[in-house]
Amino acid sequence: MNNPNCKLKFIEQLKSLPVYQPGKPIDEVARELGLDPHSIVKLASNENPLGPSPLAIAAVKKMLNQTHLYPDGNSFYLKQKLSEKFQIPQNQISLGNGSNELLELAGHILLDPQSEAVMSEYCFAVYPIVTSLFGAKLVVVKSKNYGHDLKAMASAVTKKTKIVFVANPNNPTGTMVSADELLKFIHSVPEDVLIAVDEAYIDFLDQPPDLLTLVRQKTKPNLVLFRTFSKIYGLAGFRVGYAFGHPEVIEAFEKAREPFNVNSLAQTAAIAALDDTKHVNKTKEINKSGLAYLMKEFDRLGLEYIPSNVNFILVKVGNGDLVFKELQKLGVIIRPMGGYKLPEWIRITVGLPQENQKCINSLETVLSKL
Ligand SMILES: *Cc1c(COP(=O)(O)O)cnc(C)c1O
Repeated sequence: MNNPNCKLKFIEQLKSLPVYQPGKPIDEVARELGLDPHSIVKLASNENPLGPSPLAIAAVKKMLNQTHLYPDGNSFYLKQKLSEKFQIPQNQISLGNGSNELLELAGHILLDPQSEAVMSEYCFAVYPIVTSLFGAKLVVVKSKNYGHDLKAMASAVTKKTKIVFVANPNNPTGTMVSADELLKFIHSVPEDVLIAVDEAYIDFLDQPPDLLTLVRQKTKPNLVLFRTFSKIYGLAGFRVGYAFGHPEVIEAFEKAREPFNVNSLAQTAAIAALDDTKHVNKTKEINKSGLAYLMKEFDRLGLEYIPSNVNFILVKVGNGDLVFKELQKLGVIIRPMGGYKLPEWIRITVGLPQENQKCINSLETVLSKL
């Protein structure tokens, strides 16, 4: 790392910036442990166990021979489709190379070394990374029952605060705040602070808090909702996310983004996936039953967990890192939570019934030996 031949003077904030640690890819684990990749179950990155939307795949296959052309830089048809589905005008929609890119764009348009960003303890790892990247100060607010303490977060806002990040439901804890609490919070945050509400998992909820009305009314120009095709639509590999907000904020996003930030295959896949209600409903169903199975098994094993409505669940196993390594030897990849300061916990993504079973059986084996 410390190559003495490299004389470049990197920006100061890189010194304290970690590299984001994703869930391990199946092939890497197979190679490292000499396992058959097909025998490995990956429940580490909240991916869709049913695979991508079949309608998306069919659409993408048809346009592969058009990939010598640049994508539509404005993603017109995808914006149009989102606009129709959610009844949000196109000038209130921005698209990103995953919602991760949109979160970073929020940093680009607002953060500098004089500013602060407020987030919760146990929040999504990308918020502190984005904040640090722009040299802004991280203000981390203690959690309440592993979830967001919105009152404390509102109180943590100062004159320097430019962004507050709220994931609802939250990753990695799966906790939620009620629509009521969220609305109160939104009305209590000063209007010169961007309220970044990350709704990556909202599609899994039966009764999601409705913030779209506020966006449509344009009464809260400092509110932006971040969503993704990575989770319920199963398009994580395509990288496409979207943001809803006030036209002036969206214009700022549009200025700061790269000209062709959403590639043509991703645009095509996303457009088709929005029509794939069959795949979405099947995903919700299999997730619900899988989640119920996991919670029932955790009860049987006497393991503490945080009740979840989304496609992953946090469970307390003692030494999370050790359990992660032992599970991996048995061909099950989950996510240790030490990086989130939850070293006793692991996060398990809900998989197919047989994957969930393999995970529970392996977990039982591992725990019995510790
Ligand atoms: C998965 C996830 C996202 C989505 O990321 P993409 O870049 O769209 O794949 C955003 N926020 C949270 C909290 C997530 O867990």
